[in-house]
Amino acid sequence: MVASFKLDIIIIGAGLAGIAAALRLSQAGHHVRVLDEHDRGERGCTAAHLPPNATRILTDWGFRDQIQSLGHLIKNSRFYSMENGELIGSQRWREEVIREIGADYYFIHYHDLYAMLHDAAVKAGAIVQFDAGAVNVETYPPRVTLTNQNVLKADLVIGADGPRSITRRTLFGEERIKLEGHSLFTAVVPRKLVEDDALVGNSINPSLLEFPLWLGSSRHGEAMLMRDGTEIALNIFYPDSEIPIDAEDTWEGEPMQGWRPRSNDPVLQRLIELCPDMRRLKLYIREELEDWIDESSRLLLIGNAAHPVLPCWSQSCAINLEDAETLGVLLSHINDIDQLPVLIEGFQELRKPKYRFVQDKSWWQSVESMWLAPGPEQKARDEMLRKQQDDGDWDESMLQQQFDGLWAAFGYNAREAAENWWTTWGMLRERSKTTA
Ligand SMILES: Cc1cc2nc3c(=O)[nH]c(=O)nc-3n(C[C@H](O)[C@H](O)[C@H](O)COP(=O)(O)OP(=O)(O)OC[C@H]3O[C@@H](n4cnc5c(N)ncnc54)[C@H](O)[C@@H]3O)c2cc1C
Repeated sequence: MVASFKLDIIIIGAGLAGIAAALRLSQAGHHVRVLDEHDRGERGCTAAHLPPNATRILTDWGFRDQIQSLGHLIKNSRFYSMENGELIGSQRWREEVIREIGADYYFIHYHDLYAMLHDAAVKAGAIVQFDAGAVNVETYPPRVTLTNQNVLKADLVIGADGPRSITRRTLFGEERIKLEGHSLFTAVVPRKLVEDDALVGNSINPSLLEFPLWLGSSRHGEAMLMRDGTEIALNIFYPDSEIPIDAEDTWEGEPMQGWRPRSNDPVLQRLIELCPDMRRLKLYIREELEDWIDESSRLLLIGNAAHPVLPCWSQSCAINLEDAETLGVLLSHINDIDQLPVLIEGFQELRKPKYRFVQDKSWWQSVESMWLAPGPEQKARDEMLRKQQDDGDWDESMLQQQFDGLWAAFGYNAREAAENWWTTWGMLRERSKTTA
């Protein structure tokens, strides 16, 4: 749907959140300009997870063929012990369950995902300016000052400038931030290096449609195939207390650290040794904001600027695609500038609970279970994973149990949620304003 009232929108930050929002808002008929302080460059160093709630959105946006050709489909997670290499168990998503959920799970190189969305955003009419840093953001009227002191005005300014957001800082003050206590080590190994290696080549095999994970005490590792099975992205979450160096890398620069994590699993250890380089990113906990909208209702935060989720996790990219879809749907209903406050309030109402779910349930509950130290809880988890490995006949109750476990995260339909909000609340609030 195309909006009958066209907004001038500035998005600060051409990361995944900014570029996806630019695509959807341009498709909704708005005039969109995206500013980024960095150059276009190579974006992304590792794989992005595309869970079904993300592939559903990308399919709706017309990217089904690209996901199938650029992504790697997975249907099964296999769990190994990071301490001794034993196979603990596996979890195969049953065809019946995935059919009911209505979309598949893929891995894709972050750069490929980014490039696909960037090109589509430009084609849809968005102006994307790199090397254009914002140094100040103001409201009444909404405007952005660039590093070259040019001032750009708009009806709506969207801060999609990531975890160290200048927009967030300008509006809501310095954020409180603390170390989480783990680091992410990330790298890409060309699969040709392990193809002939009996141990690794057979375990990480594109035809298995599998996601191997290594579980350990306060750590885990994961290997993700991408680019038609020619590259393996390796992510290892490791406790800072066991890392003898303090240096950390950024996504943008060259990886600089020399020390590497270790595993007693021979496959994982071999992969670590084969990585041409490894990037170390410390994990940070950032303070949660009460509001993502300023009092003028002309400035809105999205993506990591609004809700900083931990990176390289099942929902880390999906949450940004959902933000874009939600905003695109809501702002396609605008027919007057006075409607803007109601619509962006709707965005916050829809997205805040989803963020809480992603942060608490999807991330913390999962890592709590993956990072168990040896003991009764870890034994119970391993027993449960062993049982799930049984690939025999499943009765209705087993299917229902798997469906219920996956539905909360994977079943979310951002488009439907936004349309439902509009018909139940948005229109009502509109009517109450006109009759007041
Ligand atoms: C270069 C890069 C590569 C990444 N690679 C991966 C990857 O391979 N796999 C993965 O899972 N995650 C990756 N991430 C992290 C991932 O982007 C985030 O976790 C999330 O998916 C997207 O968040 P975002 O768009 O809200 O923020 P970000 O990705 O952090 O993007 C914010 C953007 O805002 C720009 N910006 C910041 N301040 C200003 C300013 N003052 N003026 C103008 N622009 C500004 C930044 O240059 C950046 O492009 C990467 C992030 C970056 C920045």
